[in-house]
Amino acid sequence: MEILQLTSKGLYCALGDFYIDPWGKVEKAVITHGHGDHARWGMGEYIAVQEAFHILKKRLGQEAKIQTYSYSEIFKMGEVEVSFHPAGHILGSSQVRIQYQDQVWVFTGDFKRDEDLTCAPFEVVPCDVFISEATFSLPVYQWRNFQDEVQEIYNWWMKNKE
Ligand SMILES: [Zn+2]
Repeated sequence: MEILQLTSKGLYCALGDFYIDPWGKVEKAVITHGHGDHARWGMGEYIAVQEAFHILKKRLGQEAKIQTYSYSEIFKMGEVEVSFHPAGHILGSSQVRIQYQDQVWVFTGDFKRDEDLTCAPFEVVPCDVFISEATFSLPVYQWRNFQDEVQEIYNWWMKNKE
């Protein structure tokens, strides 16, 4: 059973009749986090984790209809059970766990497994199928450790200040 399918508007869950981070206009959009390439304007209803609420309101406007849930809270959408789990990317970033009968699929938008004091740490969510976005996992990106990256940003800032 395919719990998610790629469509022209984004990843679609037919069993729950919702999309995840859609790019086309849809009625129900489950949102992984508040960055502009994931939370787009014009959806009928947005469903996200509580921690993402204010970022989404800021991005989508006060009139946006946003339903929120806590991390790990299980809610029903159509025939599936859905829950959000920390993705460690930014405040309110989530992996989306979808269960239908004994099948569990997890979709994550951007995620990070390094420590980050600004958001909840990435949670390993056991599943049958894991779908991940991996913009920065291409071999062209070589990441150093967090402290070195922060030091470089700080040095750049100091240089500009001078
Ligand atoms: Zn992002």
